[in-house]
Amino acid sequence: MARITFIGAAGVVTGSKHLLETDAGTRVLLDCGLYQGLSELTQRNWTPPPVDPAHLNAVLLSHGHLDHCGYLPALVQQGFGGRIYCTSATADVTELVLRDAAGLQEDEAKRASRHPERGLHTTPLYTTADVEKVVPLFSHVEYGQMCTDLPGCTFRFSDAGHILGSEIMEIFFEHKILVFTGDIGRYGRPLLRDPTPIAQADYVLAESTYGDRLHPQSDPQDDLCTVINASLGRNGVLVIPSFAIGRTQEVLYAIGQLQAANRIPACAIYVDSPMGIAADDIMERHPEATRFDLRQRFGAGDESIGAKHVTNVQTQADSIKLNDLSSNAIIIASSGMAAGGRVLHHLRNRLGRANDTVCLVGFQSPGTLGQQLLAGQKHPKVMGVPIDVHATIAHIDGFSAHADRSELLRWFGNFTSSPRTFIVHADPGPAASLAAAVASQYHINATPAQQGEVVEIK
Ligand SMILES: [Zn+2]
Repeated sequence: MARITFIGAAGVVTGSKHLLETDAGTRVLLDCGLYQGLSELTQRNWTPPPVDPAHLNAVLLSHGHLDHCGYLPALVQQGFGGRIYCTSATADVTELVLRDAAGLQEDEAKRASRHPERGLHTTPLYTTADVEKVVPLFSHVEYGQMCTDLPGCTFRFSDAGHILGSEIMEIFFEHKILVFTGDIGRYGRPLLRDPTPIAQADYVLAESTYGDRLHPQSDPQDDLCTVINASLGRNGVLVIPSFAIGRTQEVLYAIGQLQAANRIPACAIYVDSPMGIAADDIMERHPEATRFDLRQRFGAGDESIGAKHVTNVQTQADSIKLNDLSSNAIIIASSGMAAGGRVLHHLRNRLGRANDTVCLVGFQSPGTLGQQLLAGQKHPKVMGVPIDVHATIAHIDGFSAHADRSELLRWFGNFTSSPRTFIVHADPGPAASLAAAVASQYHINATPAQQGEVVEIK
């Protein structure tokens, strides 16, 4: 009898890994994500998964966020040599993300070696050399194409609308259909398409990151317009901490729309994120994964998703030069929750300036600098140094890449069958809340997946 084992992202929102074993002996890992956040979770990355990677036939990868793809180099290091199936856009995003992650882990291991008293890992979980071994394993499967490579099971991907290249998977085996959502995106976003409706399934593994919450009704582009005008009106500089992939492109697109409509004054825009600049390029190379062809819409040579007066800042030295700006500029820099990256030195430099503004975009995890600023802390530590906050702190919540409760329920409304549903990739509250809503609204038997739970497919 075929079975599914929930290896990760059960009761939590990171570490996405689900094992499908068919009667024919095919073993497929759905996602291969890293645990992130609190140390009790990241510690789990050091325990090998309960399946011999050498005996896995393949990994089906839903998208290139680290919590879905970030364990791949470790899996390869442990003997996995099968194919990694995903869209070509996901392969490009994943390579970019893994190279960055390996570099960060190498840096962390070096720091840990200098401070053995802290008891942290002095060898990285994986290195750039391990990432090099992952890249040749990618097999591209385009949206809608039925892949028949694996014995005893076929599968196809459709657009999840979450980030560039993201997929919902339909897996067909032994007269059953298993659907895995990966992460589900939003409806009506400007750059990405709506999540693809699926009508038929026997089993569903569905994410529920925002299963108990609704996103704000206001248009994030309007909110950004308000923040930009207020910031520049104070004769200051606006700093936007932003995720490099997805978020930076959405913010640039929104700025471009506001510029075209003359809703914001002329100002200089700096994208201070080599990874964000690379992600712009990947997005422009994959019109099959966007709502429209960005290169045609914005013309050849436009590197900035429609925004004008944009300077891409590549080097650390040029990044530091931005400290001299005193007004009429916007700096977009990683990371999105101000938990690391170049944005930290901008915050250290600008939080004390009364004319400047820091605009946090989206959810800010507990413990991050972004969350401390949002909570109104006046003396947070930035790069280990306490800073007196005099800058204005703004917040825009509408740029989320995840479907909220109403959007998840809208997607479930497409089923004409009643698939047995397991909620994954959610904290316990949102998981239970969405399971109850799906059950009451659509009479679908839905329960939160438990860590290590094995489900027999009957
Ligand atoms: Zn994601």
